[in-house]
Amino acid sequence: MTTHRRPLESVLDTVGETPLVRVQAAPDDVPVYAKLESFNPGASIKDRIGLYMVEQMLESGKLPEGGTVVEPTAGNTGIGFAVAAGQLDVDAVFVVPERFSVEKQQLMRALGADVINTPTEDGMGGAIQRAHELAEELDDAVVPQQFSNPLNAEAHYETTGPEIDEALDGEVGAFVAGCGTAGTLMGTSRYLRDQVSDLHVTAVEPQGSLYGTTKGQDLDEGEYKTEGIGTHNPETSELFDPEFVDDIVQILDEDTHAEMQRLAAEEGQLVASSAAANSLAALDVAERAAAGDIDLPHDCVVTVFADSSERYLSKGVYGSYEEWEG
Ligand code: PMP
Repeated sequence: MTTHRRPLESVLDTVGETPLVRVQAAPDDVPVYAKLESFNPGASIKDRIGLYMVEQMLESGKLPEGGTVVEPTAGNTGIGFAVAAGQLDVDAVFVVPERFSVEKQQLMRALGADVINTPTEDGMGGAIQRAHELAEELDDAVVPQQFSNPLNAEAHYETTGPEIDEALDGEVGAFVAGCGTAGTLMGTSRYLRDQVSDLHVTAVEPQGSLYGTTKGQDLDEGEYKTEGIGTHNPETSELFDPEFVDDIVQILDEDTHAEMQRLAAEEGQLVASSAAANSLAALDVAERAAAGDIDLPHDCVVTVFADSSERYLSKGVYGSYEEWEG
């Protein structure tokens, strides 16, 4: 693993090769490891797809040199694209519904991107529509469309998967991750399963989200506070393949909130809610394996901690559950 001891030419050289750190609460005989994605320059896992997708689109000619990426996004993906676009002489425009985190919009602007707000009542649908209209109006613009673009999952097949495999000498028994676009889960676990054919794959979602319906689970749609994962669309993300996934677990917001606080207080991990949900699901898989309820090809469970709690402090992540805005 690169340890970045040598001088690097560009901030883009610091995307990926993030640390893989043991979760201390796991059973001794089935360790859990989490990949700490806040170590990326834009401080989240989405830097990987920002860099990979912009590079691939430039290489294939889909995005002309000096062109523009226009993406409807509420957060980390915009920051990831903005980091890459700024260094690769590409313009970036993000269409963000008004209600989304002001901090994230400030970061996108600071990185040189334009941010256009759409009315909250038009939802993400309104932002998507406006992004396509803008791309039509601008010369040389593309909408990367992280929810349907296979390059999203490919970024993880090419980077996250191999990094985990190498760090653990191929001895991975299960990969566990929450799904927003499902790019992380699908791309990483596809790579790992190409190395270990009976790898156990677990998708994670907050209770109220509908990924589990793709496996026939009877779920009620509801609001949830956990940020970055889950879907209200019963058809889910186009990248998600339920056949590939062994199980889908729902985590309650209350438990996620408590785990966020436990990870900080007991493990020194300042991670956000999707990471806490992943931690609980990964610990559950490890405990089931330790109890002999499931068979893993290797006694080792891996997950990702997608970003840091610092990005959400104003939402009260470390206060009481009732005060947490999610
Ligand atoms: N956690 C956070 C904080 C995120 O922003 C995202 C992306 N929406 C995810 C997890 C899920 O990643 P993916 O889109 O690859 O499923």
